[in-house]
Amino acid sequence: MTDTLVDFDVVLTKYDPALGLEVHVELNTNTKMFCGCPTAFGAEPNTQVCPTCLGLPGAMPVVNAKAVESAIRIGLALNCQIAEWCRFARKNYFYPDMPKNFQTSQYDEPICFDGFLDVEVEGEVFRIGIERAHMEEDTGKSSHVGGTDGRIHGADHSLVDYNRAGIPLIEIVTKPILGTGEKAPLVAKAYVSALRDIIVALGVSDARMDQGSIRADVNLSLAPKGSEKLGTRSETKNVNSLRSVERAVRFEMSRHAGILDAGGAVLQETRHFHENDGTTSSGREKSDAEDYRYFPEPDLVPVAPSREWVEQLRATLPENPALKRTRLQGEWGFSDLEMRDTVGAGALELVERTVAAGAAPQAARKWWLSELARRANDTGVELADLGVTPEQVAGVQALVDAKRINDKLARQVFDGLLAGEGTPEEIVAARGLEVVSDDGALSAAVEAAIAANPDVADKIRDGKHAAAGALIGAVMKEMRGQADAGRVRELILEKLA
Ligand SMILES: [Zn+2]
Repeated sequence: MTDTLVDFDVVLTKYDPALGLEVHVELNTNTKMFCGCPTAFGAEPNTQVCPTCLGLPGAMPVVNAKAVESAIRIGLALNCQIAEWCRFARKNYFYPDMPKNFQTSQYDEPICFDGFLDVEVEGEVFRIGIERAHMEEDTGKSSHVGGTDGRIHGADHSLVDYNRAGIPLIEIVTKPILGTGEKAPLVAKAYVSALRDIIVALGVSDARMDQGSIRADVNLSLAPKGSEKLGTRSETKNVNSLRSVERAVRFEMSRHAGILDAGGAVLQETRHFHENDGTTSSGREKSDAEDYRYFPEPDLVPVAPSREWVEQLRATLPENPALKRTRLQGEWGFSDLEMRDTVGAGALELVERTVAAGAAPQAARKWWLSELARRANDTGVELADLGVTPEQVAGVQALVDAKRINDKLARQVFDGLLAGEGTPEEIVAARGLEVVSDDGALSAAVEAAIAANPDVADKIRDGKHAAAGALIGAVMKEMRGQADAGRVRELILEKLA
């Protein structure tokens, strides 16, 4: 069945969207949520398992304290209340990659609840209410073999890897997000982006959407404009990039409107998002909570974090990333565009550290976003993994500031740094890169340039100082770029005065 899609602008003339986002964050603890198995990504299948995470009879789970700590820190960063006492619950359903036939999660007693996160879209701030953030465990991973597209349909057998089963997850659930109108897709994206920034700043997860360590489920419903009642929602599962979050909301708004316009009823179901064309397709009909037969987990003691511990953890919170960005932009005097480019290039922290090591903010930005970004791009690595440190960049800029090298020679210093030839200072010495500003050496080169370009020299004598550029170029060429251009200009004008 093909979906009837309504043009996005038309949707907004008739309906109000309501968003809800459920984000799963995989924690970067060394061991699993309820056993001591390692959590390293990419290990041989079924090598990081034990009776507990395989759900074998009689195996007893034990809560990972580090995971509880991370959950509380996430909750505090999202302005949540932290439960004084809470329990785990069994969520019962059958799925081959869930070996216990239930998932240990939290139900009506989440560890964090009732918070908020402010996000900004095009200058407008939206306060996103956080319903809860609770602890649970990940499932294993199935792969279906023999079909054409890795789906179970058409496959002749399936493989299950339980290495991921039992890895700690925090699920963060928003309250219904209303009043976003045409900005709904952008608000959804901005929320996931801001949340990811917080997770990165807390250091509690790899926070790689592309590797699934952050996954977003996007709930959307439409209600007739002005209606008090929410419409029936669809839940698009496991959307794994920021751009896809935006596209999924946009597509679902158009699809829901098509159904409602035709007098139909939206089905409450989960949906799959397709990266290739930005559409969604039907998954399974969504179970209501009672179908999961939740009950308190009898094998685990309640979690009761003391208020002292919670306050200690509050003291470890990093500065809110959005506020920090505003602060740095003010301190650095960057324009909105410069700031956006710096963040977009993944260079914010690199620039911050380069400035801390003594470079001027604009100089730090210039090196990371031009010369070094180009080299990172050429070699296909992230800027942070290029192998040049902020301290080294500040060292190169210090040599430029001291007029011992110029920008052009600085590029050769970066060549040396990437080749592991030592400190900027050592590279300048070893490669003989230092700018020559000694008048004796410069004078000879200037006189040679004048003698070789008599026409240009005449123009300068006639007062056309702009013509000096040609002679400066000749001197620079003669001295392999290592002349002090400012001093060369002065000497030319002196000699031809
Ligand atoms: Zn285990």
